[in-house]
Amino acid sequence: MAKAVSKIKAAAPVASHHILYGQSHLNFADTVSQFIDKNVNPNVDEWERNKSFPARSLFKKLGKLGIFGVNKPIEYGGLGLDFSYSVVVAETMGKINCAAIPMASAVQSDMATPALSDYGSDYLKREFLLPSMLGERVSCLGVSEACAGSDVASIRTTAHWHGDDLIINGSKQWITNGHQADWICLLLNTNTNPSNHRNKSLVCVNLNEPGIKLGRQIEKLGMHSSDTAEIFFDDVRVPSRNIIGEEGRGFVYQMAQFQDERLVAVAVLLEPLSRVLSLTMEYTKDRKIFGEPVISNQSVRYKLAEMTTELEAVKALLYRAVLEKLGGNDVTPLASMAKLKAARLARIITDNCLQFWGGNGYTWDNLVSRFYRDLRLFSIAGGCDEVMLSIISKHMNEKK
Ligand SMILES: Cc1cc2nc3c(=O)[nH]c(=O)nc-3n(C[C@H](O)[C@H](O)[C@H](O)COP(=O)(O)OP(=O)(O)OC[C@H]3O[C@@H](n4cnc5c(N)ncnc54)[C@H](O)[C@@H]3O)c2cc1C
Repeated sequence: MAKAVSKIKAAAPVASHHILYGQSHLNFADTVSQFIDKNVNPNVDEWERNKSFPARSLFKKLGKLGIFGVNKPIEYGGLGLDFSYSVVVAETMGKINCAAIPMASAVQSDMATPALSDYGSDYLKREFLLPSMLGERVSCLGVSEACAGSDVASIRTTAHWHGDDLIINGSKQWITNGHQADWICLLLNTNTNPSNHRNKSLVCVNLNEPGIKLGRQIEKLGMHSSDTAEIFFDDVRVPSRNIIGEEGRGFVYQMAQFQDERLVAVAVLLEPLSRVLSLTMEYTKDRKIFGEPVISNQSVRYKLAEMTTELEAVKALLYRAVLEKLGGNDVTPLASMAKLKAARLARIITDNCLQFWGGNGYTWDNLVSRFYRDLRLFSIAGGCDEVMLSIISKHMNEKK
């Protein structure tokens, strides 16, 4: 029988003598890991079954650990640490027995708030960043629309100006945390510049404003406890002081924001993939077919060895990209390579491992099948594999 997901504990903290992490990283990871074992993993099966987790209460607790504001300024509720600590936190959040909660948490820390932290006014940071870093307010990021996902520049949600206010009309789709969020970091068209890279702004919008309606909870293949919303804006009035940074620079800010998101997404993938591999190794040692353990077949053993090797290579690529970022370099191509490779490897590892479990792999309450469903998203969201390839090839051409 497959082990019940709730009985599987998070693995021990990552090893010392690490190329990116020192003792203080490991101590932080240990605190987060203990929190997960005690407060998150025992509830995950129920939250997945209910197709919802209590974001407001859980985020308050996670906020107390400081995980939302790891690399954000101390005066706005952050810890003022560098990005390597965000990566170790993301990696540790991967110990949660589903990918939905690490994704929801990454929305708050690395998708909805980096631009606000980098370019927002003091007013916006006090109103939106500070309470989000403390976990007192839940945020979401509104970029994608029914008509525009990969092609971000072609979004249609638009504001026209009324005096000093923006009047917003349009809709967003696929918004993670959307039903439970207090505010949205919204990308929309705010001027008529003919360049669709210069006509957009990122705006902080409270989700209780008149004219905002939440649509259906979107049913998904995986990420079941994650809340995925459609959000409609009908003449929603927001003061222009809610624009993050410079009006018309939203597209550029969003492209920069994607880089943090992609590196964090890779970090979130490492632990589940390593657990899928180790659970499968254990299972294939125990399970005998034709009188021999499944793993005694060279084809199985070699496949597991190859996938373990590829996971190490992805890890090395991630750490290299993070070190480059810490050194102040543009990591757009490296972040895209790491996201592409990690997402593709997630499909390979979860599919091959599920196969090695036979019928037990095809059961619902098996962590391997849950990650098979959950991790499939990583080749689609946050920039699909093909968008990563287009970014990488664009940079290759620029280098020539
Ligand atoms: C569960 C979930 C959560 C999400 N959370 C959020 C969120 O919180 N906020 C948010 O703004 N968005 C979110 N998204 C949206 C996500 O980022 C988009 O789904 C993604 O960007 C892809 O856009 P699309 O779905 O419109 O696919 P499309 O853009 O229609 O692309 C369809 C397919 O076309 C192919 N393709 C795309 N571009 C190229 C290319 N350049 N070359 C060749 N082939 C290409 C790819 O195979 C791609 O999968 C979420 C999506 C899901 C499913």
